[in-house]
Formats: sequence, structure tokens, C-alpha cells
Amino acid sequence: MDRAFIEWPRSLWREDSATWDFAPAPLSSSFDVAIVGAGFSGLWTAHHLLLDNPGLSIAIIDAQQPGFGASGRNGGWCSAFSPMSLQAVAATSNRESATALQNALVDSIDEIGQFITDSNVDCGWKKAGTLSFASIPAQLQRLQDSVTSFREFGFDEDFISLLSHDEASDRIHMPQTLGATYSPHCAALHPAKLVDGLVQHLLQHGVQFFGTTIAREIQPHVITAIAPHGNVQIYAKWIVRATEGFTARMHQFRRDSAPLYSYMIATEPLSPSQWESIGWKNRETVSDARNLLIYAQRTSDNRIAFGGRGAPYKFGSRIGSKFDTDPSIHALIEQSMREMFPAIGDTPVSHTWGGALGVHRDWFTATNVDHRTHLATLGGYVGDGVAFSYVAAKEVALSISSNQRVTAPLAIVNHISPRWEPEPLRWFGINALLKLSSHADAVEKRTGKSHRLISWLLGKIIP
Ligand SMILES: Cc1cc2nc3c(=O)[nH]c(=O)nc-3n(C[C@H](O)[C@H](O)[C@H](O)COP(=O)(O)OP(=O)(O)OC[C@H]3O[C@@H](n4cnc5c(N)ncnc54)[C@H](O)[C@@H]3O)c2cc1C
Repeated sequence: MDRAFIEWPRSLWREDSATWDFAPAPLSSSFDVAIVGAGFSGLWTAHHLLLDNPGLSIAIIDAQQPGFGASGRNGGWCSAFSPMSLQAVAATSNRESATALQNALVDSIDEIGQFITDSNVDCGWKKAGTLSFASIPAQLQRLQDSVTSFREFGFDEDFISLLSHDEASDRIHMPQTLGATYSPHCAALHPAKLVDGLVQHLLQHGVQFFGTTIAREIQPHVITAIAPHGNVQIYAKWIVRATEGFTARMHQFRRDSAPLYSYMIATEPLSPSQWESIGWKNRETVSDARNLLIYAQRTSDNRIAFGGRGAPYKFGSRIGSKFDTDPSIHALIEQSMREMFPAIGDTPVSHTWGGALGVHRDWFTATNVDHRTHLATLGGYVGDGVAFSYVAAKEVALSISSNQRVTAPLAIVNHISPRWEPEPLRWFGINALLKLSSHADAVEKRTGKSHRLISWLLGKIIP
């Protein structure tokens, strides 16, 4: 078994989600559509395909079991915010396309919420929006700039608004808040339970799942995979690759996507008096405006689940169970969390975990559907894939179902990202960028101001 797919991390979400045990694929099998990867991308692709064609035979194979990847480990933000700025999207297409993509993301939150209601998925779903706080002037400036850029695209106060110190503190009492942005377009959820709900739903609609089946090569109409009982072949009219952060494990795609680690911690449930001092009555998702993102949610069982990006990229795009925890990074995340929420006091952290997310060379999310080879891919969400995978999967399914290119596609459709540089350039480039971002945060924390040159450089590199 490939070591990347052996052990599940001890995440908070794993405690009370299903333990799937799907058998591996048989030596040879054939389907209308075979999907590699049982995370949100693969699951939503099957869902959208079946909406249009209930009779399709669909198989989803996973190297482990559904939800093993980022979909079962993430921060549980179902957010309409994308890793690309609207300006960056418009630069690859036009203003209308950038606006259309943003609107599709906004709609996706309610569509996912509707699916959860219709399918009775008990995943702690709460659409209360998202807050991004500023604790120093540089961060406040960054929040103001982001609101201005949304206004340039016609997104008004109902989409995102600036909150004063008092307005922000009314929602969550943070000691050093200067202000915040608020947008209603985000929900908090238990991500592994949404995976479970989707799997149940797809099983009811005839989808076949195969576990412990690792795709080694994908060619038109055939996946060659390795399973505990030997090599297997899965034949299909269409093959969809939904392997996101794990993509570089397949030799033929080793430079298509780079895995970056994001790490999380969760506290024991806080007491009513601790919540009284924190506020946070509505369960909005929470971040702040530093360069290296942190993200938090109040869980439905009253813990704080808190995550952070910025862990160094591993040479050769390595991923694996041994990277799922990193005590020094978890300690930094815990320090940030306790600084933001002093009322946590000595309540212990009960869970620490991490996982890999997929990043394309131009930091752009992309779907690709090739009507000549009948191969499709989706991914590259840079850590914003809970809602984005729904949107991407919908586009992939639409294109496959209509058997032609979609006439008015979203800007992510058939976007070609360049391949990553070979090593050691990739290692050097990504880690230099991460170091630059953490240096920028350190300078801002010390001086309160942003470093102009670094901010300019980061703006050039990250869309
Ligand atoms: C710690 C963390 C926190 C995050 N927080 C958030 C958040 O709060 N909000 C948000 O929007 N996004 C978040 N993300 C990102 C989000 O989770 C992902 O973008 C999203 O889940 C990607 O879904 P996916 O289905 O494309 O990939 P995955 O969920 O990673 O699924 C890929 C699946 O493919 C399988 N696979 C891979 N290779 C093969 C192969 N060769 N053969 C067979 N199967 C294979 C894997 O086992 C895996 O199950 C976070 C990510 C991490 C790691």
C-alpha cells in the first residue's frame, strides 16, 4: 500500500463520522463513468451527473475510503470566497466571467444547504456568514482594500461589509480588534458528516464505491490501479480524476499540482461562561487578515476548531501520514488561537491533525473536460474547496452530460495552469513564498504596518 494512504489522522471529525469499508475494485470492471477520488470533488461530480442522467453507471474508487483526504479533515468552512481575486479571474477572461464565478459560488452555499436539508444530513450546518478580523492597521488596510475591490465588481454591502470595532466586538469579543469584514455567504459544518451524507445519497442512487484501490495510471477509457489482491483495470466511457492534494503521487501528473499542508487543532468543549466572555453566538466562521491564513469555527458541540496554513512544502511533493501532525506547527496554531481567544484559558486542545490541499502553478482552480479523450479533472482549490468543489463538479458534470463544451462556461472551465517546475526549483520557489508571507506577518505584527515591497511581491505571485 502506498504510504500516503495508510493511516487516518485523529481529527475531531473522525470521532463521530462513519467508518466506510468498501471492498477493492475487482480485477476488471466497466462503467459509464469512473471517478478517481471519493472526496467532495468526486462525490459532487457523481451527484451532478446523476441529476441529469439517473441511469448512468458510476464507480468511485479511492486509494483509502471516502473522506480520507482533505474533504474529511478540513476546517468546515463552506464559503463563497475563492482563492483567486476577482481581478485575477477577470485578467484571464473578463469582468462578466469573474462576476459569474463569484455568483456561482454564492449560489452554491444555498444549494449545498438545500441538499443537506433534503437528504437529512446531520452535519451541524449553520449558515451565519464569515468574519475576518484586523488587529493591526496593516490588516485593517487589507480588509478595506478587499472590500473596495469587491465594490469595483458591483458587490455591495449585502455581499461584504466593513464592521467598526464596536460592531465586530458585538459579535465576537476579541481583545485587540480594530474592525472586521462580514459576509453572509459562508456556513460552518462538520465536513466528514457531509461526506457521509453524500456517500449515503449516492449509494441510494446506485453508485458503486471501491476502497483501497490506488489508481496508478489513467489513459482514455481505462484506469490501471493497484489493490490488495493485485492489479486491476477499470474501464469507462468517461474517467474523472478528483485527486486534488494527492495528484502528484501519480507519476504522469507529478507536476500538475503541488500539495501544501494545512494544520488544525480543536479544543475540548468550552463552558457556557467561557462562551459568555467570547460571544460568538451565531457560529460565524472566523479568520483574520494576516498573510498566512488562519481559520476557525465554533463547532456545533461548542469547541473551537482552529487551523492555519504556511507549513513548509515537502521536497518532491511528498505527502503521507507522518506529515499529518507537526508538533511545532500545532504549537504555533495553538498560540495564535489562545491570543485571539484568551477566554479559552487552560481548556486543553483535544485534537491535532493536518492534511494536504492541492495548488496549481498559477494558484488557479481549474476543471478540464476533454471530449476527444473523455478524460476530465477538477481541483486546485488552494484550501477553499468545500464549496468550490461543488461548483467545479457541476461544471464537469454539465460538460460530460451535454457531450460537448459548455456554451457559457465559468472562468475555471478548461483553464490550463502551467506545470510546476522540476525540483529543486519547486521546493525553493514555494518555500520562499511561504517564508516571505510569514516574514510579512512578523513585520506587520512588530510595526503595525505592511512592508510595501513584500506586499507588492506577494500580490504579484498570488492571484
Ligand atoms: C486541514 C485543512 C483544512 C481545510 N479547511 C478548509 C475549509 O475550512 N474550507 C474550505 O473550503 N476548504 C478547506 N480545505 C480544503 C478542502 O478541504 C479541499 O479543497 C477539498 O476537500 C478538496 O476536495 P477533493 O475531493 O478535491 O480532494 P480530497 O478530499 O483530498 O479527496 C481526494 C481523494 O482522492 C483519493 N485519491 C488520491 N489519489 C488517488 C489515487 N491515485 N487513486 C485512488 N484514490 C486517490 C484520496 O484518498 C482522497 O480521498 C482544507 C484543507 C485542509 C487539508
